[in-house]
Amino acid sequence: MTDYTNLQNELKQKPRVWLITGVAGFIGSNLLEALLKADQKVIGLDNFSTGKEHNLSEVRKALTANQRNNFKFIKGDIRILSECKRACAGVDYVLHHAALASVPLSIEDPLRCNENNVTGFLNLLLAARDQKVRRFVYASSSAVYGDCEDSLKVEDRVGQSISPYAASKSANELYASVFSKTYGLGSIGLRYFNVFGPRQDPNGAYAAVLPRWVTAMITREPVSIYGDGSTSRDFLYIANVVQANLLAATTSNPAAINQVFNVALGTRTTLNELFEVIRSKLLPDYPHLQNFRSHYQAFRPGDILHSQADISKAKTLLGYNPSHTLEQGLDAALDWYKNNLCGQGLGLSAKAVHKPNEMLGLSRQGRNRDVSLVQKSGFPEHPLAQSVMSVLREVTILPCRGRIRVRNP
Ligand code: NAD
Repeated sequence: MTDYTNLQNELKQKPRVWLITGVAGFIGSNLLEALLKADQKVIGLDNFSTGKEHNLSEVRKALTANQRNNFKFIKGDIRILSECKRACAGVDYVLHHAALASVPLSIEDPLRCNENNVTGFLNLLLAARDQKVRRFVYASSSAVYGDCEDSLKVEDRVGQSISPYAASKSANELYASVFSKTYGLGSIGLRYFNVFGPRQDPNGAYAAVLPRWVTAMITREPVSIYGDGSTSRDFLYIANVVQANLLAATTSNPAAINQVFNVALGTRTTLNELFEVIRSKLLPDYPHLQNFRSHYQAFRPGDILHSQADISKAKTLLGYNPSHTLEQGLDAALDWYKNNLCGQGLGLSAKAVHKPNEMLGLSRQGRNRDVSLVQKSGFPEHPLAQSVMSVLREVTILPCRGRIRVRNP
């Protein structure tokens, strides 16, 4: 059995109390789901600045009543020390993920970035120290590598920060290290690379390119690639991030404590390769993608060409062993992307958006429902609404297929 399987069994037998900050966000809500499914007790803190109530209700729906009862949510802000102290009371492990997680926003508003990512971080360290938590695990970022040009990123070779966001994550690592030396608080920093998966905001940072492209391909919008497509990233499915957090929180290896670790797959995928993988996975359901091509635009200034992590430190010291490759992660995430990002927000039937070729088989009532929803949605100009309308229009001119003939949607 792997270290992680052992750990999952142990946790089930001996539940612990966990605090997840940023619990309503992408990574936080996935941690929540995994922990509650492992019958742990979880306290979640979030101020809903980018997180969503919807993410929490989606998690609740996936649980048993008992598991749901193990969750206590606190609407609170890490910028307020008393709220951090309240959240840390009685907690064994902190998984700190609340942050302003956007590089462009940090450039626009560095003060806000500092308040959330540095002052907020310090508040939580103080609260964790005072409440004597067993371990403080926090989200760092591959952004700390800054202008380091090594194509394989190793933990102890970082460059200069190139954004306030990156500076804030470097400051987190410094403070965590100081708290371990000064107060003996055991912490572990996880430098995530490009994480993707369910509940990811397509407008967010990092691997948001995945949900954006999936949506664009399905709805026949153009897909733009900056540069010639040879830019590469280390894309990582969320289940691997969950694994790294649980291992980091519970490790008893002294060499692993007060360290930072790359959390990635340890592979590099170019944007051209990523485009092709997504296209080929969607093709069976969306024949219009047969000849679908991306558009190339100029390189964006400041974009790093290649980013790949060396994950040997996490493998050796934490027993980290990614469970999902990029393709396996995509297989697991695609259904969620299809069902949540492409039209359901408008109340359109899944079939209308996802299986346009099967629209021929949809009843007149079903089609009329979609048309009227588009009209009533208040977003008739929305690209998704437009796309559905164009599918419906197309259906009307398609020749007779089988026994179904549609004249007027
Ligand atoms: P996210 O924006 O989905 O989640 C962040 C959560 O923190 C949100 O729910 C937000 O409402 C909450 N939050 C922000 N400020 C808060 C405050 N002051 N008080 C309480 N809650 C607050 O982002 P994510 O992608 O889930 O990222 C989680 C963490 O991982 C962040 O620290 C981010 O910097 C880091 N990270 C993410 C990636 C990635 O690929 N997604 C990569 C590297 C690092």
